[in-house]
Amino acid sequence: MSVLDRFKLEGRVAIVTGGARGLGRIAAEALASAGASVAVSARDLTAAETAASEIAEKTSSATVGVSFDVTRANEIESAFERVVDRFGTIDILVNNAGINIRGQIERLAESDWDAVIDANLKGPWLCCRAVASIMKAKKYGKVINISSMLGEISLPERTPYASSKGGLTLLTKTLALEWAPYGINVNALCPGPFATDINLSLLRDPAVAATFTAKIPLGRWGDPVELGPSIVFLASDAASFITGSTLFIDGGYTAQ
Ligand code: NAD
Repeated sequence: MSVLDRFKLEGRVAIVTGGARGLGRIAAEALASAGASVAVSARDLTAAETAASEIAEKTSSATVGVSFDVTRANEIESAFERVVDRFGTIDILVNNAGINIRGQIERLAESDWDAVIDANLKGPWLCCRAVASIMKAKKYGKVINISSMLGEISLPERTPYASSKGGLTLLTKTLALEWAPYGINVNALCPGPFATDINLSLLRDPAVAATFTAKIPLGRWGDPVELGPSIVFLASDAASFITGSTLFIDGGYTAQ
């Protein structure tokens, strides 16, 4: 097998949460381009199905749109069952869905904390739990948790978000250990600043956006398409001996 063959995903089945837009959409498209069948999930079924059919057209891989909220266990479990009915199994889980609510701690509501922790930390935990029996039974699986550079370093006014992503990085390490005997690789991919909807409030203010740019050693925000190759790498047998790791894709931000 050549080196490049190890990146191929033909015959694999992937599910990407929050896959209809932003980095999740890029991840879903990259996995499909590498040959995987892909379930694109979103809370809105129409958005999921539209993204799935656009990706199928572009890549000629099989895709399906499924809808669930990552904070709701019953919705996740029935959607995963639908994916298994459609494609036979799940090999790759990308826990991408997430939100950010920024603000000084005394200005945040308890419900803000709950919403961020539920979507960013409980959601991946529930999705991992739902896929456990499938991956453990066949002793194969790849889980990629989209954490953040803010799971490693922090910024003011990010108490819920950084706490959730720090937790997600540790969830990654814990499950990597728990599932190592089952041949399941669990890794975290940690983006720095990318120009997506989650950052619209920062991008709308040129001064704030420029402050970020100034702090990024490569001198620019990430282009969402730059995420795709790292997703394929961690989802493939090219990364077969990598588990419990954290890969930063942040233009050098966390090197400082
Ligand atoms: P985005 O806002 O475009 O995408 C987030 C996606 O998650 C959306 O599709 C949204 O509908 C979905 N989502 C949110 N809550 C959900 C829920 N409860 N159930 C199901 N889906 C839900 O932003 P993005 O930048 O594409 O974010 C993707 C991931 O990347 C997030 O986990 C985010 O924290 C992480 N991240 C982004 C950046 C960045 O700079 N863009 C940096 C670090 C980490």
